[in-house]
Amino acid sequence: MERLTGIGVSAGVAVGRAVILTQRTEVMRFPIPPDRVESEVLALRAARDQSRQQLRDISARVSQGPGGELGALFDAQILMLDDPMLIGNAEEIIRKERVNAAWAVHRAYEGLFELFSSMEDPYLRERENDVADVAGRLRMNLRHGARGPRELLSQIDGPSVLIADELTASVAAQLDWSRVQGFATDAGSRTYHTAILARSLKVPAVVGLHDASLRIAAGTPVILDGTTGELVIAPTPDVIEEAQRRAARPKRRGTGAPEAGPITTRDGVRISLEANIELLEDLEYLNEYGAEGVGLYRSEFMVSGRPLDTVTEDEQYSMYRNLIEQVAPRPVTIRTFDLDERQVSGRDHQRAERRRTRPGLRGLRLGLANPELLRTQLRALVRASAHGPIRVMFPFVTAVEEVRQARAMLTEIIAASGGRTSEIKVGAMIEVPSAALAADLLAPDVDFFTIGTNDLIQYTLAVDRTDDRVSDLYEPLHPAVLRLIRLVRRSGARHRLPVSLCGEMASDPALVGLLVGLGLTEFSMTPGAIPIVRQVVEELSAAEARRLAGHVLRLATAAEIEQYLFDALAASAIQRSPLS
Ligand code: PEP
Ligand code: MG
Repeated sequence: MERLTGIGVSAGVAVGRAVILTQRTEVMRFPIPPDRVESEVLALRAARDQSRQQLRDISARVSQGPGGELGALFDAQILMLDDPMLIGNAEEIIRKERVNAAWAVHRAYEGLFELFSSMEDPYLRERENDVADVAGRLRMNLRHGARGPRELLSQIDGPSVLIADELTASVAAQLDWSRVQGFATDAGSRTYHTAILARSLKVPAVVGLHDASLRIAAGTPVILDGTTGELVIAPTPDVIEEAQRRAARPKRRGTGAPEAGPITTRDGVRISLEANIELLEDLEYLNEYGAEGVGLYRSEFMVSGRPLDTVTEDEQYSMYRNLIEQVAPRPVTIRTFDLDERQVSGRDHQRAERRRTRPGLRGLRLGLANPELLRTQLRALVRASAHGPIRVMFPFVTAVEEVRQARAMLTEIIAASGGRTSEIKVGAMIEVPSAALAADLLAPDVDFFTIGTNDLIQYTLAVDRTDDRVSDLYEPLHPAVLRLIRLVRRSGARHRLPVSLCGEMASDPALVGLLVGLGLTEFSMTPGAIPIVRQVVEELSAAEARRLAGHVLRLATAAEIEQYLFDALAASAIQRSPLS
């Protein structure tokens, strides 16, 4: 029995087996009972076979098209699937450590990655990217049928306690909190954030445990006390029994069930919550979580793993039409491809994804540099618009002339199709500081703005989130970020443009109050987050949120802002009910 002490941020006692979540790698580690070891190994082998088939298909397709020599790259990845250091090692980890296959793949991948990165030969060193792609594909195929953390957790027997390096709201919102009794995090700095998250979820929570997620083996029984800040590892049976008595608590509201009807704050401000969608399969979540429409369709996901110039107009048209018809009568906002240059020549999407943080030929810039690609997509969108209302949105806008050029292209296509220009609303994503600062200049050329905080934060703060050395500086509460959001909202209001927000920030129950306070009323987020954000919004007073935001915007540092929000939260909780 061992005791760790952190900071209790949400009262109550939780008892269960540890499930470890490493957000940094986005992989969950959980124990599997001895009788499931073989089925986990079989699942891994099935994922390998599926990956091999997918890679063969891609290789064949690429070899026939333009840039055919790139097909060989995928052949190298197929060979890796047979490398005993990958699948063989992963199998051994499953058997020895009795953990889930996705985690075992991650561990085996780390070993291989290190090996390749230490090689002298630059050609071999380059292969580290292929290892990453192959491991990512295996994990993706393992997730098949168990799509998100919610489904993964449902495979675990009995109650559990989540131990994470850090817990972001978008992941928290997707967990099944009737199974997870409470959570603890290594990170301790974001107390406001974690506290509001935990209290919104109504679960006990402890933060600031430093390296608990590394030290605790998946499946170890733990007791978490959110009042004292203590985490007991491998407690004796009598200690567990006593804790279970203290753990008895009122049933909490789940995060899954949608509510009916429009969403308003306590003081009657109408707030709309839409969904960010990547794949058509995800549309089933729209009803499940009560989304009012699709606020962001990331169209580039449909080209995943393919050269962009092989995605035909007809194929796109039927995809968009399908999307529009499934979502109708609710609105759909489709974003044109947000890719970088590698995708055009046929490199894998995951690789493009990793390079996203590099400012370069990406998003609308890429579309304008390859006008035939953009034109093909716009033609498909115009045809699809006959089947329901759509809004078209351009990503990574940095200057007015880009929007003018793209809009002129769209107008031409609409005219050629005999349609009316006004039927398709055109918007700009505001996700680069230049666009935010010049929002008032962009406004006359568009019909709406959508703030993309994921990119806006990283470009404003010059922080590449994938670089461990600076990723802790990625701070949504940085005064510069909040000021830019306010500026865009105000520029929109001055020109009577709707302004929505679709970055991760929207799905964060800890931040959504502040965003409402900044005057935003339209949000789009990962569908699983909608019920919990709805709950927070309905308990919120927009007038109080505005006062809070007014004060917060005068503070100089993110830490001061966080502290102020934490104190305000504690004060309002004391007014209404005890803190727990
Ligand atoms: C954003 O940048 O906030 C956004 C929503 O776009 P993506 O995450 O797809 O870059
Ligand atoms: Mg973006």
